[in-house]
Amino acid sequence: MERELLKRLHGYFAGIANPTEEERSIFEQLTGKLPFFHITSVSRDDLRARGFDVTRVSDTDMEHIAREMAGDYCEGAYWDDMEAIASQQLEIPRRPPACCPVCGSELVCFDFESGKHVCQGCGRAWSDNYVLVQFPEDASHFEESEIGYPCFNTEDNGARYVPEYDYIRHFRKDPAANTFFKPVGWPESQNYLGETSIDALCEPIEDEKGLADFGPQTIWVPLCMLGKEPSASEYKAILDEVRNKFADEIAVADADPDKWYEVFVTDDDGGTHTEKSCDTFDEVARCFPGVAESFGVDNTNIDIWQNRESPVNTLPISGKPQRRNLKTHRYGHSIYQ
Ligand SMILES: [Zn+2]
Repeated sequence: MERELLKRLHGYFAGIANPTEEERSIFEQLTGKLPFFHITSVSRDDLRARGFDVTRVSDTDMEHIAREMAGDYCEGAYWDDMEAIASQQLEIPRRPPACCPVCGSELVCFDFESGKHVCQGCGRAWSDNYVLVQFPEDASHFEESEIGYPCFNTEDNGARYVPEYDYIRHFRKDPAANTFFKPVGWPESQNYLGETSIDALCEPIEDEKGLADFGPQTIWVPLCMLGKEPSASEYKAILDEVRNKFADEIAVADADPDKWYEVFVTDDDGGTHTEKSCDTFDEVARCFPGVAESFGVDNTNIDIWQNRESPVNTLPISGKPQRRNLKTHRYGHSIYQ
């Protein structure tokens, strides 16, 4: 969809005071489209321009051409074009760290399996997590270099949360396993505000830089307290299972322009909201891990929607690794069978 039109529609639906279920559903779908910027589109005029007789070309044919061309572009020049424009025309900076904290090699790859950066030169690996540096280790180097964030939760008043990368670069060793922390944002952070002894290890982020970088209501949580997120290969297994189990439904929905997928989240109050709307299951497979990481894989679901008169009904697909029950879902009401 053209971006200006998308923004106008989104603004229009956002402004409806008491939206119906249908209006809320459309608004959520439009919201799901906002992060995606349109590259190009193909029309019958393009075929005409190349001498084709389009009188019998159906919308399904056009969909097919568009899908194949998009696939070819993604497998071909897409990433190179994006990188060239981002770096050469717009000079968008690369994210540090671009080189190994130990040997300085720039041959660093990201291993999706382990979630770590791995140096191809010396084999050193590091994550994007933080390490709490406190007595007997000395965090003053990091404070002087303005690296990391202060910790007010220990007896060492110079203690600091620093990126694992900087820890390894300074100390030349891996941090101890029980020193890892992660900033957990709202609303998930609310789960770590209890009064048990382990909750006492969590610390609300209240320093100026921390607030600016992570936002309000974010909490430092020890990594050991966080549920283990599935690895990339586990996500693939989850999605392959869904793909096999619902092969027929997926084949129909992929081919039908009136059907689409939604990756939706079950909220704490029992309601749901849509995070992503996708035209194909391949698209679902690409965005599912990101949604699951933000909201928990147990709360992340997939379903298929069809353009119909209200109420818009859905064909259920469960994306959950444990709960495999068929699930019927309609906006605002989730019915578990
Ligand atoms: Zn290295």
